[in-house]
Amino acid sequence: MSPETEQQTVLVVDDEPSNIQALARVIKDDCRVQVANNGEKALAIATGEAPPDLILLDVQMPDLDGYEVCRRLKKDSRAHTIPVIFVTAHASPTDEEQGLLLGAVDFIAKPFYPAIVRARVRTHLSLKRKADLLERISLLDGLTNLPNRRQFDDRLDMEQRRARREETPLSVIMLDIDHFKAINDTFGHGSGDDCLQKVAWAVDRNVERPADLVARYGGEEFVALLPGTDADGAAHQAERFRRTVADLALPHPRSSAADVVTISLGVATLTPAGAAAESAADLLERADKALYAAKNGGRNRYVVAD
Ligand code: GH3
Ligand code: MG
Ligand code: MG
Repeated sequence: MSPETEQQTVLVVDDEPSNIQALARVIKDDCRVQVANNGEKALAIATGEAPPDLILLDVQMPDLDGYEVCRRLKKDSRAHTIPVIFVTAHASPTDEEQGLLLGAVDFIAKPFYPAIVRARVRTHLSLKRKADLLERISLLDGLTNLPNRRQFDDRLDMEQRRARREETPLSVIMLDIDHFKAINDTFGHGSGDDCLQKVAWAVDRNVERPADLVARYGGEEFVALLPGTDADGAAHQAERFRRTVADLALPHPRSSAADVVTISLGVATLTPAGAAAESAADLLERADKALYAAKNGGRNRYVVAD
């Protein structure tokens, strides 16, 4: 199922089983229902592997009350975007104000009217679906569907910190299509776009580890992020990328490097010894310099930065 049609999940949190049952009955046709009978369980589900799309949260519960649960959810990077609706018997304006100030999107008074609960849940599920879609689109490149530069920058930052912490190597490979401008000029921009897609998909198919990421960095430039990969491994991977693209055998009428479309690559590795001194930006700059050395050295080749 695509993310646009996948059934959404609502987590109902209440210490009173009959309340959970009553709410679940009202919303069950619109979503999958998860339940938790205390605040700790709710937090575990919301920050776990399969977080819900919406939380209906009782205010009065023993131990952790609903306000405290909401406060903790909003502070947690894994859960802070999940909308929360408070459900409470004490619906004074002050209670409602407190809930909304904590970041809840809505407030439902008990005893509740089923039709109103259903309508509010539908509204917030629909908004959540749109927010998820925008979030996903904002991280992808429209032409190739590969992760875009923004997603790459976020991941690079994360992986660089991880490499430092765990003292593991981290490699990046910058790739640029050789004489790409001539493809646009000879065959037209549409063929240029086709060529970009084919190169992007071929390179992306060539990474194997789940943590590897290939992104469109800009124009006809791509970048691969290879966590846990040292300089030798990255050089090996760069040669595989180079060969894969040449093997596509896309005709190139005006390249100095070959009669087919080729790429040049620059490889740079952050070693555990160098990790403290080098920023993510420095690492990329080394890869970029190596890429230009590959261009100057005749294209259709990779160069490893020193
Ligand atoms: P080099 O071998 O030195 O890399 O030469 P090049 O021609 O590939 O490099 P240059 O940077 O001179 O030209 C890149 C061209 O890529 C220019 C730009 O119009 C084109 N380009 C950038 N983005 C896109 C795109 O999304 N679609 C198409 N069709 N062309 C693009
Ligand atoms: Mg180029
Ligand atoms: Mg370029």
